[in-house]
Amino acid sequence: MDKIQMTTPLVEMDGDEMTRILWKMIKEELLLPFIDLKTEYYDLGLEERNRTNDQVTVDSANATKKYGVAVKCATITPNAARVEEYNLKEMWKSPNGTIRAMLDGTVFRAPIVVKGIEPNVKTWIRPITIARHAYGDVYKATEMKIPGAGKAELVYTAEDGTEVRELIHEFTGAGIIQGQHNVSASIESFAHSCFRYALDTKQDLWFATKDTISKKYDHTFKDIFQEIFDRDYKEAFEQAGITYFYTLIDDAVARVMKSEGGFIWACKNYDGDVMSDMISSAFGSLAMMTSVLVSPQGYYEYEAAHGTVQRHYYKHLNGEETSTNSVATIFAWTGALRKRGELDENQKLVQFADALEAACIHTIESGRMTKDLALITSIQDPVVLNSEGFIKEIRKELEASLQS
Ligand code: NAP
Ligand code: MG
Repeated sequence: MDKIQMTTPLVEMDGDEMTRILWKMIKEELLLPFIDLKTEYYDLGLEERNRTNDQVTVDSANATKKYGVAVKCATITPNAARVEEYNLKEMWKSPNGTIRAMLDGTVFRAPIVVKGIEPNVKTWIRPITIARHAYGDVYKATEMKIPGAGKAELVYTAEDGTEVRELIHEFTGAGIIQGQHNVSASIESFAHSCFRYALDTKQDLWFATKDTISKKYDHTFKDIFQEIFDRDYKEAFEQAGITYFYTLIDDAVARVMKSEGGFIWACKNYDGDVMSDMISSAFGSLAMMTSVLVSPQGYYEYEAAHGTVQRHYYKHLNGEETSTNSVATIFAWTGALRKRGELDENQKLVQFADALEAACIHTIESGRMTKDLALITSIQDPVVLNSEGFIKEIRKELEASLQS
């Protein structure tokens, strides 16, 4: 069989620990035998980030701006323990945070649905995609502990020195305050990313905030979405047969629970943080979740939603067998290959991505899976495979489907 050719490279961001082990196995077993794989390689493993003073992360984000599509392995976000473990020069920032800030995007996360791993919510028959705004609100807030009686105010000083003040509260005793902000440009790019992703994936878009209570802050999110929709996307949505729907966040939660799924749920930063963990665990497993960062300029960065699976890595280092689920990492590759194929009009690459995803799903649905899934499946007597064995079974499925 001739290998599939690529015209433009993918930006490849390697990572850490168990996912770095899986990364290599996936390339060797599932990609290199079938594709003449072109990538521009960046090693985002913690040692290389430390050696380059994290320049490699910045370079990889710039490469993503150049080529448009990246695939990223999970990486360690250092904490005090990691500084010691890796003898780091500094507690480097989260690579995801750095890349997100440079590409200014929205993170879309969707469960990978397979028969035999049933969601806890009976009515959900299609995946629910969470679109999380990744800037501001409580994540960039300033807080203060109020020791006792006194007046707290919001003060805005314009460049010409004029002031606007609003009373927050006249404290009669101790308390707490918090100042949140967001910027219109970021909310606008969040809106554009959501509308584009809805068109890309032909799914309805839901958006919800608490604008009845937050008449200026949340209401601005609602207004910006509506303005951009009416101006730029209304006709395209009609042509694609999809809808944009705004409601209150509490109403949205109630409707999501009774829905069949199959839509995108745009969430403010905090709502997205909380709701994506609810959605992913209700659908089964973090290891069965895709994640893609979509920038308003049309750059795409695909990754797995989970971390580096540290506990399994230490077992692996001890020479013990691991049963780590590689599906989310494989789907990061297929997402990136499919997008590259679409952009380059390389139909063979798109078909390969479809075939590899189908091979993963068939393998699990036939009862061959890793331990995390075996614990929750409704399939009788599943075959529990180790990390490598699972990838080899997927390869068999893939070869069979590519030959037919
Ligand atoms: P984690 O790597 O997501 O793993 C947490 C637990 O979830 C694992 O111990 C394992 O449970 C289970 N799990 C996750 N992925 C799995 C998979 N593919 N197959 C089977 N089980 C899986 O989170 P963590 O241990 O809290 O974080 C480890 C490192 O990852 C940290 O240094 C963190 O900074 C980093 N991190 C990176 C990203 C990213 O790059 N996107 C995201 C999150 C965390 P059992 O142990 O019970 O088997
Ligand atoms: Mg969270």
